[in-house]
Amino acid sequence: MGGRRLGIATACLSGLLEDKLAAAAAAGFDGVEIFVPDLLGSPESPADIARRCADLGLAVDLYQPIRDVEALPRDAFAASLRRVEHAFDVMEQLGTTTALICSSVDPRAIDDDDLAAAQLAEVADRAADRGLRIAYEALAWGRHVNTWDHSWRIVARADHPALGLCVDSFHLYARGGDPAGLRDVPAGKLFFLQLADAPRLDMAVLPWSRHHRLFPGQGDFDLTALVGHLDAAGYDGPWSLEVFNDVFRQADPGPAAVDARRSLLGLEESLAGAAVPAVGGTAFVELAVDPATSAEVTDALAALGFARTGAHRTKPVGLWEAGGARVVVREEVPLPDAGSVPAAVAALAVRTPDPEALARRGVELLAPRVPLPHAGDEAELRAVAAPDGTLLFCCPERPSPGGDDFWPGDFVSTGVRPGVGATGIDHVALSPPFDLVAEAELFLRTVVGLAPVGEPTDIVAPFGLVRGRLFASAGAEPVRVVLSSSLVRRGGWAPGVPAPQSVAFAVPDVLTVARAALDAGLPLLDVGPNYYADLAARGVADVDVLAAHRVLLDVDASGGQYRHVVTPVLGGRVFLEAVERSGGYAGFGAADAPVRMAAHRRSRASV
Ligand code: MG
Repeated sequence: MGGRRLGIATACLSGLLEDKLAAAAAAGFDGVEIFVPDLLGSPESPADIARRCADLGLAVDLYQPIRDVEALPRDAFAASLRRVEHAFDVMEQLGTTTALICSSVDPRAIDDDDLAAAQLAEVADRAADRGLRIAYEALAWGRHVNTWDHSWRIVARADHPALGLCVDSFHLYARGGDPAGLRDVPAGKLFFLQLADAPRLDMAVLPWSRHHRLFPGQGDFDLTALVGHLDAAGYDGPWSLEVFNDVFRQADPGPAAVDARRSLLGLEESLAGAAVPAVGGTAFVELAVDPATSAEVTDALAALGFARTGAHRTKPVGLWEAGGARVVVREEVPLPDAGSVPAAVAALAVRTPDPEALARRGVELLAPRVPLPHAGDEAELRAVAAPDGTLLFCCPERPSPGGDDFWPGDFVSTGVRPGVGATGIDHVALSPPFDLVAEAELFLRTVVGLAPVGEPTDIVAPFGLVRGRLFASAGAEPVRVVLSSSLVRRGGWAPGVPAPQSVAFAVPDVLTVARAALDAGLPLLDVGPNYYADLAARGVADVDVLAAHRVLLDVDASGGQYRHVVTPVLGGRVFLEAVERSGGYAGFGAADAPVRMAAHRRSRASV
């Protein structure tokens, strides 16, 4: 990765201008766009800001935006020219040569391409006198010019060497534009590229842009296609992010800038068609638990068919196995990053043919490598840290079915055979804070190579709206991670589990697992009779059997089934699930989530 100049608009980041510049430099960006309000809010002169950027190793790639310049009546245009000349004064001090003019939204603007072209050419004349140039951008809500091809027609008509295009991926895709046409624009006219992704939303373009832009790879736009067309056209300027939404501008600029640059590295990789290291299944999940909570977790594992097959030589760490499913339970005080809750998913271990390649790729994508001490004769585990501190272990593929040579030598066998009932880890569900979901998604998509399955699901939960989305790897034994998050949390009424997590085990026969768990005294979650009466009304057979075994059932549109049982919330945060999928069911039981959450609340309240 690398070689291409990567930039970011100061508008993307939170804080004072100096905070933004420091964060952009620390994340490794090559350049910045100086957003006019950031300059206006700074007590430093433009020359001082230029020096600060130079000291940080940042180029100033763009000064933006200059608004409402063109297609105006003569007297109004005279005022535009005064503003433009001042902007040029600032740019000379800033040491940047390119200014962005976005298409006018001025109510006085006239729908006249000849006038727009002539006035932009006049501005370009003045820019050229100072060795500067103008990149013209079609705002998706511009009064008369709101598509990239219209902005190109005006630039072509003006035919001035100091006037070219700024392509903004949001404005292009929001208007349904086709980036293929960019191939026909001469490279010398492609002055600048601003990149933003966004979810596909059916809403007006202005609030869509203002509230929902995302970094590349976090939304639904085909940015790989767009940069591919620009490469083909010969564009050789920076890839510069221009992203704002309700979250990023209030987030800590340090991690946000890392997330931002990771998005561009992922886009570079996607454009290069680089092979993503294959991940083939979840090797194990590690739970960190407070010693006081440990028995609660391990009793539930045992009731679900797990046996404690391994023990760490020196630490209170146990390996629990059932069939192909493995859980490492690590007793630890205090728990990392778990607040006051005494149980947390601490690590996800994925299998891959080349663990070193997967870990190295993670580092290239700005995930810190986590050194893991190991003795000379022990298998080396490789790990990088996710943005929330959870570890991603990169493990070799299973050497042989049931083989124990997989494990590092600091585990010793307890002599107990693995339990039966499970075949592997079906999925792990995590609940990052809403403002960190996009960052967590991007980590899963770029570093782990998972892809979203379907659209995000809005779950109408008892204590607020929860948005959930499943990410999965390809292949017969996919790694699946569900990210769920409450959109808004305010006030004192907060009876839900603040950041629930779960580990779901794949089982071939959930009724058998449920029967054994109930016989072992595990109080599987009981959602009550109304749920089963509704299943019966929808034509589900044998609901009495399901109810007696506390089995929940989600059926998808093609008849695929997701039968699952759920434990109580353990340690105030984590619950376990046994899942039987059939008929190609590809979701994560989201339809059952509101009922499950209500039952969890009742079971916790009754303790
Ligand atoms: Mg823009």
